[in-house]
Amino acid sequence: MKTFSKTIDVRTSSRNCFVDITRYISSICEESKISDGIITIFVPHTTCGVIVNENYDPTVQKDIQKILGEIAPENQDYSHTEGNADSHIKTAIVGNSITIPINNGKIPFGTWQGIFLTEFDGPRTRKVIVKIIGV
Ligand code: ZN
Repeated sequence: MKTFSKTIDVRTSSRNCFVDITRYISSICEESKISDGIITIFVPHTTCGVIVNENYDPTVQKDIQKILGEIAPENQDYSHTEGNADSHIKTAIVGNSITIPINNGKIPFGTWQGIFLTEFDGPRTRKVIVKIIGV
């Protein structure tokens, strides 16, 4: 079984923001030379996540952030008093790993799909751990 791993650092620019990491993941995929398999992307953090969603119209990201902010407002009577309880809740909702297929050396994205790191407690530098398992 052929495997390939890489960890990248991603700088985020504000407390809540999405960073399109599609091009980094696609280039790791190319670098691996694995033509068929599974790619898994994991962020080792409790206040940022990773999702696949639309990367064409930026208002989609805005709407997702707005609704997450309504579900978990920043100033609420939380038990976790570190000041980032909302960030933990948003991360729990979106999740912090995704697994996607590689077909013929490429991720078979739908027309509007991209991969985003979802920051909920930035700005910070985040790690993204990528592992590819070839079949
Ligand atoms: Zn915390």
